[in-house]
Amino acid sequence: MPSFNLSSSGFVFLIGYLLLGGFVVQLALVVFNSFRSAAHARAASSLALERLALDVRTARLRFDSVEQERSGWNGIRKFTVAKKIAECADTFSFHLTPHDRRPIPAFKPGQYLTFQLTLPGQAKPLVRCYSISDCARSTHYRVTIKRCPPPPKTEHPPGRGSSFFCDNIKEGDILDVKAPAGHFFLELEKEKAAVLISGGVGITPMIAMAHALIEARSTREVWFFFGSRGSEDHMLRAETLALTQKYPKLNLHICYSRPGKDDVIDRDFQHEGRVTVELMKSLLPSQNYNFYLCGPGAFMETITDDLRTWGVPDAAVHFEAFGPASVKKTAKPEAKAAFTAAPFAGGQLISFAKSGQTTSWSPAHATLLDAAEACGVRIEAGCRAGNCGACLVAIKSGEVEYLNDHGAEAEAGSCLACICKPKGALTIDA
Ligand SMILES: Cc1cc2nc3c(=O)[nH]c(=O)nc-3n(C[C@H](O)[C@H](O)[C@H](O)COP(=O)(O)OP(=O)(O)OC[C@H]3O[C@@H](n4cnc5c(N)ncnc54)[C@H](O)[C@@H]3O)c2cc1C
Repeated sequence: MPSFNLSSSGFVFLIGYLLLGGFVVQLALVVFNSFRSAAHARAASSLALERLALDVRTARLRFDSVEQERSGWNGIRKFTVAKKIAECADTFSFHLTPHDRRPIPAFKPGQYLTFQLTLPGQAKPLVRCYSISDCARSTHYRVTIKRCPPPPKTEHPPGRGSSFFCDNIKEGDILDVKAPAGHFFLELEKEKAAVLISGGVGITPMIAMAHALIEARSTREVWFFFGSRGSEDHMLRAETLALTQKYPKLNLHICYSRPGKDDVIDRDFQHEGRVTVELMKSLLPSQNYNFYLCGPGAFMETITDDLRTWGVPDAAVHFEAFGPASVKKTAKPEAKAAFTAAPFAGGQLISFAKSGQTTSWSPAHATLLDAAEACGVRIEAGCRAGNCGACLVAIKSGEVEYLNDHGAEAEAGSCLACICKPKGALTIDA
């Protein structure tokens, strides 16, 4: 066996060498590891920063789109009439695309657009509101407009704004439009079953509501009552009939008061006659629903009164009044009773300077506009909610108080007649 001869100093040197070598290796490892973990830490922190930046960008995008959706646009925006579609007698749908081709905000189903129309020979633009008759689309809004006929047994011309749309507006025209607005809308997040009740052109916000429920894949129970004379003036008819295939929980009841000779019951409509609360009582299991109404004035007054008698609380009844020839806001019975019992004494005389009329204020009038209409004084009106500014009228003397917040500006010395009432004797320039 070969001998291994090592001196003691050599042995000490060897041990020292090995120990030092181990130490150097250990040190190198420590240095390497710390470099590695520093690199790791650097990589991890730069990843976290990137993630944070991404989150900030996503949040910003979300914020922008929520903001865009929420606020729409300020003032007037130009829209091009991309399509004009004849729906039924004297009724057209208009598809409106933004002229600037930028995104259009979503809206709540039931809301309307406000148009500033430049009519030939008119110095002042005519302001009119039209409900959006479709669910939110990224490309366009749709409104459906029926020519407003003259009041029965009068020689008055038909409505100016609606006739202008029906006769003059054509594809390619550019319109001045204010952003979607209005407090009459269906809250899609709510689960309570809903009853949509409409007559004639009042179908427009209801169709938007039904489409929105379909788009949202809602499973909410919905009853849809619609009334017109017959199929020839049932606007958006094919679309209404198709709703039940797309929304199984929708119970559609079409009532024709004077069905045409080709209108077949149970195929084209379900009931001969008008939409009534009696009909609802015979079909609905209870009155525990949210009711949404839109239609001619008399129709809405009857339905709201009958719903109240049926025990439906006012808070569950939502309605939209369509313009001057349409509904008067139904004064609550308490207000009517108060007026009959104790009419306002003397002071609150309203004078209309231009027309030379006077009347006294009563709590049965919901607003100054109502008081004017009740005595035959015409004040332009659009939304009847203080948004469109059409009813702005100069105050000659006296003061008013507002019943609600208003979106439209009311300059000093003028008032928005649709949402105010006099504070005392008042003279306005109407
Ligand atoms: C929120 C909202 C949403 C609406 N949505 C829709 C919709 O989706 N579709 C739709 O078609 N409509 C809708 N409307 C109604 C619409 O805004 C207009 O009110 C309607 O088109 C009538 O306006 P006009 O300019 O055509 O009529 P106007 O010119 O204002 O005339 C109104 C009525 O007065 C009569 N009249 C004319 N001259 C006189 C006179 N000297 N004295 C007495 N009466 C006279 C006219 O014959 C007509 O019957 C909506 C209204 C509101 C407030």
